[in-house]
Amino acid sequence: LFGYVGIEAVLDQMKIKTMKTGFEFNIMVVGQSGLGKSTMVNTLFKSKVSRKSSQPGQEERIPKTVQLQSITHIIQEKGVKMKLTVTDTPGFGDQINNENCWDPIIKYINEQYERYLREEILITRKRKIPDTRVHGCVYFVPPTGHWLRPLDLEFMRRLSKIVNVVPVIAKADTLTLEERAEFKQRIQEDLKTHAISVYPQEDFDQDPEDRALNDRIREKIPFAVVGADQEHQVNGKRVLGRKTKWGIIEVENPAHCEFPLLRDLLIRSHLQDLKDITHNVHYESYRVRRLNESNR
Ligand code: GDP
Ligand code: MG
Repeated sequence: LFGYVGIEAVLDQMKIKTMKTGFEFNIMVVGQSGLGKSTMVNTLFKSKVSRKSSQPGQEERIPKTVQLQSITHIIQEKGVKMKLTVTDTPGFGDQINNENCWDPIIKYINEQYERYLREEILITRKRKIPDTRVHGCVYFVPPTGHWLRPLDLEFMRRLSKIVNVVPVIAKADTLTLEERAEFKQRIQEDLKTHAISVYPQEDFDQDPEDRALNDRIREKIPFAVVGADQEHQVNGKRVLGRKTKWGIIEVENPAHCEFPLLRDLLIRSHLQDLKDITHNVHYESYRVRRLNESNR
């Protein structure tokens, strides 16, 4: 009876469904002010993934971010629609007393879970619940070249319990290659010592193949990124980059920085996995917590 099932037909159906309805993907950037978060939001939108759909002429310098702010672009590729939202946050940790500086960010993340939950428990549910949950939270580590600061550790410890945290070394162009490598190593050690589980979390590897792939990514985390929102002419091509006295740092050039790794992880190779872990792990634990609370 089940000699040949024809799974491909199912894949086709799944594809058609996604093409029709599209999907939502939400990223958030957090970190101290001045580390290039707002610039990175622009870099993400202007880099290849969305170059086709971004409207030229909408260039504006981003002022110092004072409140949480989301920017959405609809990206359409090969008939598939993606609604990509990036939420920019004001720098935290700028005060003398940084106690509870993570509260607004954690509150925002939980509010999105709450919204989803409210829709989900309605008797007449929408066929497709609007999804504003944060699928990936990019944490900007200042390029000190030392160790993680207590503030970074505390913030990531709290965040990693409720969201996928992807740490990056900010403004990596301020470090030499050796400094980058050493700093990366120290951060990895720091995270291990403090049992902070950033994305991709070892616990959630699906199988040996998945593990092997993710191990290669874990070796490279945190990515040393450089952001830019201006284009320059290099060898007759327009590239996103930072112009310095010594030359142009091309943000999309893997020889210059690891922004391409970050972009590919988020928007290409691990997009579905980030969504799955958000739904199956982070949202699920929020849901269980909330339902327990209301049963008491
Ligand atoms: P935010 O406060 O974290 O949002 O930081 P901004 O994006 O506003 O950037 C603060 C300053 O750092 C601006 O002058 C940016 O041009 C600059 N900047 C942003 N990204 C980088 C980077 O990767 N390297 C360097 N050297 N400067 C950067
Ligand atoms: Mg900003």
